[in-house]
Amino acid sequence: MSGLLPGFALAGALALLASTASGERPPIPHVPVPAADADAPVVDVLPGGVVRWPGEGIVLCGDEHETWKPRDGACYYPVDLDRGEALFPVFRDRAGARETASVRVLPPPYATESLRVDPRTVRVSERVRRRAARERRQVVPLFSLRTNPSFSLPLAPPLADAPPARNFGTRRLFNGEPRSAHGGVDYRAKVGTPVLATEGGLVVLAANHFFAGKSVFVDHGAGLLSMYMHLSRIDVKAGQRVARGERLGLSGATGRVTGPHLHFGFRWRGARVDPNLLLADPATLPSP
Ligand SMILES: [Zn+2]
Repeated sequence: MSGLLPGFALAGALALLASTASGERPPIPHVPVPAADADAPVVDVLPGGVVRWPGEGIVLCGDEHETWKPRDGACYYPVDLDRGEALFPVFRDRAGARETASVRVLPPPYATESLRVDPRTVRVSERVRRRAARERRQVVPLFSLRTNPSFSLPLAPPLADAPPARNFGTRRLFNGEPRSAHGGVDYRAKVGTPVLATEGGLVVLAANHFFAGKSVFVDHGAGLLSMYMHLSRIDVKAGQRVARGERLGLSGATGRVTGPHLHFGFRWRGARVDPNLLLADPATLPSP
C-alpha cells in the first residue's frame, strides 16, 4: 500500500528533487511583478491564510514566483504558515491590463505550548532520522505538482460528523527547543472512523511513514494537495481517482502520535494553509 504515482507530472517534480532535499519549496522562476503603485489596494492576511481577489473577466493571476488561472471567478493567493511578516505584490490580468495589490502578512496569532518532556521521547535514532528524510523526499516533490484543477471551494470536511478542527499553527517547545509549527488541523476521531476525500482528485501517494503513519495524499490540481495522516487503514492506491466524499481509509493512531486522531492538512502551491479556511464560504476570505 505504498508507492509514488509514476507519471509525467511527477517526473518533472522529481527532477527538481536533488535541489530541494533540504528545502520546502523548489526553486521557481521569478515572475517580474510591477511594484504596487501607491494607490494599489493592500490586504491583510494571517500566515497560513488565503487571499481571495474576485472580479469579472480575470484571465491570469500571479505573484513573484508563478502565474495561474483564476478559480470560480477569483484569484487565490495562499500564504504559507511560516511566511513571516512581509509585504509582497500580487497581480491579476483582466481586460488587457495588469492590476496589482499588496499582501501584508500579519504576525502569527497562534499559541506556543511549552512542554517539559523526557528527552528520550523526543530524540530519534540515526536510523529513524534517515528513514524520515527518505520519506520526506517522497513527499516534497508533491508540493510542486501543477495538474489541471478539479476543485471548487468550499471543500468538504474529511469526517462525516466533523468535530472542531484544532491546533492549526500551534508551535511546541520541547524542553525549550522549538519544533516546527503544526501545519494542519487535528480532529478527534475514534480508531476506525471513515476518512473522506475533501474533494475529487488523484491519489498521488499512499504510504506508511514514521511520523505521519499511514497517510494518503490527494492532488486536486492547480497545486492544491490534501493530506490525511495517522490512519489505521488505507483503502486507496496511488494512481487512483477519487470523488469528493469518497472513503480513503479509516482514522487511527499510526505514526508518531499521543492518541487516535485524524491529522488533516493542505499544501496550496507549496503553502501550508489553514484547512478551516478552505472548508468555509470563500467569500469570508480577505480580499484587497
Ligand atoms: Zn496534527
